[in-house]
Amino acid sequence: MADPQAPDVVTMEKIVALCKRRGFIFPSSEIYGGVGSTYDYGHYGVLLKSNVKNEWWRSMLQERDDIVAIDSAILQHPRVWEASGHLEGFTDPLVDCKTCGKRFRADHLQDLECGRKPSKHPGETDECDLTEARDFNLMFETTIGPVKESGSAAYLRPETAQGIFINFKNVLQFSRKKPPFGIAQVGKSFRNEITPGNFIFRTREFEQMEMEFFVPPAEAQKWFEHWLGERERWYTSLGIRPERLRLRAHDADELSHYSSGTSDVEYLFPIGWSELEGIANRGDFDLSRHAEFSGQKLEYFDQASGERYIPHVIEPAAGADRATLAFLVDAYDEEVVEREGTGSGEVRTVLRLHPRLAPVKAAVLPLVNKDGQPELARELHRTLRAQVQSEYDDGGAIGKRYRRHDEIGTPFCLTVDHQSIEDRTVTLRDRDSLEQERLPIEGLAEEIVRRVNAPWSTPKLGVSAPTA
Ligand code: ATP
Repeated sequence: MADPQAPDVVTMEKIVALCKRRGFIFPSSEIYGGVGSTYDYGHYGVLLKSNVKNEWWRSMLQERDDIVAIDSAILQHPRVWEASGHLEGFTDPLVDCKTCGKRFRADHLQDLECGRKPSKHPGETDECDLTEARDFNLMFETTIGPVKESGSAAYLRPETAQGIFINFKNVLQFSRKKPPFGIAQVGKSFRNEITPGNFIFRTREFEQMEMEFFVPPAEAQKWFEHWLGERERWYTSLGIRPERLRLRAHDADELSHYSSGTSDVEYLFPIGWSELEGIANRGDFDLSRHAEFSGQKLEYFDQASGERYIPHVIEPAAGADRATLAFLVDAYDEEVVEREGTGSGEVRTVLRLHPRLAPVKAAVLPLVNKDGQPELARELHRTLRAQVQSEYDDGGAIGKRYRRHDEIGTPFCLTVDHQSIEDRTVTLRDRDSLEQERLPIEGLAEEIVRRVNAPWSTPKLGVSAPTA
């Protein structure tokens, strides 16, 4: 078990190395030397991030009656970005260093490394020669159609939210919903970040999980607080340690142009407390602007009361990649265990992921590749895979296979041995406690489903933060 007295051993370097070694996440275009801060998800990364997104959908759709889904196009009418304020205002302040030739975000200098002396921040050494800050628009521009001419400019969406606002009328007409109700979307967004970095924390192409909750204006504050609580709870219900999570309200000078109140859910990443999700009270800014720019009425008419109003919007906006990174960081653990039969210790690396997030729920391992064990193991795997993501694994010594599954976070390893052939039982090894118990094959798939969905909390609770 994890030792709550020990400091957390996780570092970003260890996460990056494990993700590469175990096929979660690779640097993109690696055979061509890579392309700055883009990543490709491998098999286990796809499974993990899908589970994160599915849990988000579950909390938004399955567990509530007041939210519906949408999947809008990435390319939208350019006027969308005029109305939203992105064309004019979605900028970051950029400075160039004439000495090292690198570019930096002027408001992040304290977090960045000098191009010549990485131990210093840009501007900190006498040699640094920074230009005045100028605004740089983060939207990726492209053209629609074969000819680059005026009026053909289009943008890769920098957020999924606008695709929701421009569908407000459609959803209102067809979903039989009335405020308070929400529209949820998961999808890719693109930002030409000046200084991406820290692995998948900040990339130029990423996935967002956003929900716009439309409410009567007088109820906005109440719903804002509701969503602060709900979103914090979502992370802790999936195993994130509460002491690594906090809500931070934006100061007035930090607020976006549309927001009358924003709080970030922050996580204690190895790079320090950083934004995981933003929850904003956007007022009626978006619907009013799209009504103005499109000439369409975007309001709600309550037939019962005869009242007509533009709903206010509460937006919880999360990043699927950033959440995946937080779950990986929170789960990463190392502990010394006894090497079987030797009395000496070895370090076991383990991802203590919530079983619902784990890429593989159960691995079926024949102890030896003979005596009918592979056949029985395959039979069990076939039954399991109908209900959960299961993996058949007969490659290498059993200890090595356990380590492999510890590193990808498989909560249950099921070992088929000579006794299994006689009495159709297997040993179930628990990833966290390392306890082994003997269970009948009959009904095992249902038992695994039950355990995956049972309440779970990480054994890392109380493990102290690493000292910098
Ligand atoms: P930051 O201050 O980190 O740039 P933001 O406040 O601009 O983020 P939002 O516009 O509120 O971010 O986007 C909502 C969420 O989308 C963020 O909380 C984050 O999880 C995710 N996100 C935003 N930009 C990126 C990015 N470049 N790479 C990965 N995830 C991102």
